[in-house]
Formats: sequence, structure tokens, C-alpha cells
Amino acid sequence: MYRKIIKIFSRKQGCLKKKPANFIAWLIVLLPMTTVCQNTNFPEFDPGRAFSHLKKQCEFGARVPGTAAHRNCLEYLTSTLRSYGAQVTTQPFQITMRGETTPVTCYNIIANFHPNNSCRVLLCAHWDTRPWADQDPDPANHSKPVLGANDGASGVAVLLEIARLIHLSPPKFGVDIVFFDAEDLGSYGDNETWALGSKQFAKNLSRRYRPEFAILLDLVGDSDQQLYIEKNSYQYAKNIVDMVWNTAQRLGIHEFIPEVKHDVYDDHINLLEIGIQCINIIDFDYKYWHTIEDTPDKCSPQSLDNVGRVLVDILYR
Ligand SMILES: [Zn+2]
Repeated sequence: MYRKIIKIFSRKQGCLKKKPANFIAWLIVLLPMTTVCQNTNFPEFDPGRAFSHLKKQCEFGARVPGTAAHRNCLEYLTSTLRSYGAQVTTQPFQITMRGETTPVTCYNIIANFHPNNSCRVLLCAHWDTRPWADQDPDPANHSKPVLGANDGASGVAVLLEIARLIHLSPPKFGVDIVFFDAEDLGSYGDNETWALGSKQFAKNLSRRYRPEFAILLDLVGDSDQQLYIEKNSYQYAKNIVDMVWNTAQRLGIHEFIPEVKHDVYDDHINLLEIGIQCINIIDFDYKYWHTIEDTPDKCSPQSLDNVGRVLVDILYR
């Protein structure tokens, strides 16, 4: 609990205090939710497949930029997305990690489904894992990498299964799935050192790209799942928060708790800053956050299913 609170307080404050004027501007120009999107067949989210994607990512090892595990996982993610019919591109960028002198290459992975559909939705998660398990109770583990079953692999796993469903049955939206790199390399208390991939993505994004909304998944696999509402999401994209938590309520998924709790500096902040309505679905209270215990046995297919079913309902209903 204490560790989680440190994360939340150390990673808050982001853009939202720095650039309030931008938000007012884009709120005014934001297009209303369109009604031209068509309903289509309603496929079923497979929690077993999603969980196998979570385990597969962990089998590569910690996906720290510059490592073989990172390269192998990159290949796995791009080839899986292509097998589901997406147009996949990577967006490389260089970073120098704390304590290093040589830069390493990071890659955002961008998968576009049905690019001709102008009615678009952006779904995203980070795929890198933290090089330092610096919240581990044993200081001897602080320089070891985090395996990131929940912190990294869980959101990606849900979205890979969503990609399969999009391939099976096109939803009413054209969907863009983006896996951000270099989210988890930061120093506590310094927001600018976190979420580097989404920063890069936002910087290079065409200003004509206006998805209806965006949803970020982070830490969604905890077998003891509690999904409260993140404060920045509520403040700057309340209608998307309402849509997601109301959908969960209608489906009887009570792990989505309709109460605002904590604010985090995460990839959604970089999208909010350029006027994309992005919310963060995140479990604040993961006991193994940034420890060497963030392993698949702490996660469950049921938790991935809770989030996956809500997304399917939103994409297809
Ligand atoms: Zn993390």
C-alpha cells in the first residue's frame, strides 16, 4: 500500500497544471461523438488466449530496451498484429537510460485496422518493463529488472486478443492499437523521465488524426483487481470514463468501481496534452508493483476478461 502511494504521488502533477489553456481550446473544438458508426457482429473475448499472450511476453524475460528479450518481444508483437490483419509500423527513437552512456533504440508499435474507416478509436498500453525492481522489499533486488506480468504485459495481452476479434469481425470503429515503449524508465518525482514512448508518439502524430476517444490500459491483470477511476481521466475525459464504467456496471463487472481515486502520470497524459480524449484504466493497488514478484502467477485470465469484455462491448455495441 505504502509503495503504491509513493508511485502515485511521485508521478502526478503532469501536464494538466502546466497547460490548462490547451485543454479549454481542444474541449471547444472537439467533435461530438459521431452517430454514423454502424453496429456489427459481437465476438467473444477469450480470456485464455489473452492470458497466453501475457505469459508469452514474460517468457522472453524482462522487456528492457536494448536487451534480447526486448528485440524478441518486438518481433512477437509485430508479427502477431500482422497475423490479425493490421497494418503495422514501428516508430523508433533513441534514449539513454539512467546510469548508461550509450543510447539504445526504443520502438513504439502502431497497428492500424481498417484504415479507411474515418470513425476511429485508439487503444494503447506500454510494452516495455522497468529495468529496476526498486520497490522490492529486498534492497538486493533493486538493480534487477521487473518481469512485468502485470506492469506491461497485461494491457498488451488484452489488446492482442482484441486485435484477434477485430480480425474475426470488424467493429463499428476503425481501431488503432499502439504499444508504447519506454514508459517505465523514469525516476520518481520527475515526470519528464516517464512515458517517453507516448511523448514521442504524440510529438509525431498528425494533427488531423482525431480518434473519437482513446483508452490506455496499465496494470489490468492483478488477480485481486480493483479498477477505480483515475483523476486526470475523470477531469479531462469524463464522458469516456462514464461510458467505460457504465458499460462495466451494465455487464455486472464489479471490479470497475465508480469512484475517483488518485491521479497518475502515465501515457494518457501525453495524449491529453495534444487534445486526444484518453482515459487510463489502471489498478492502483498492485502489491507487486516494481518488484521482482510481478510475475504471471499474480495475474489472472478473469481480470483480463473483465477489461476485455468492456472494450468489446464498447467497440461492437
Ligand atoms: Zn511501472
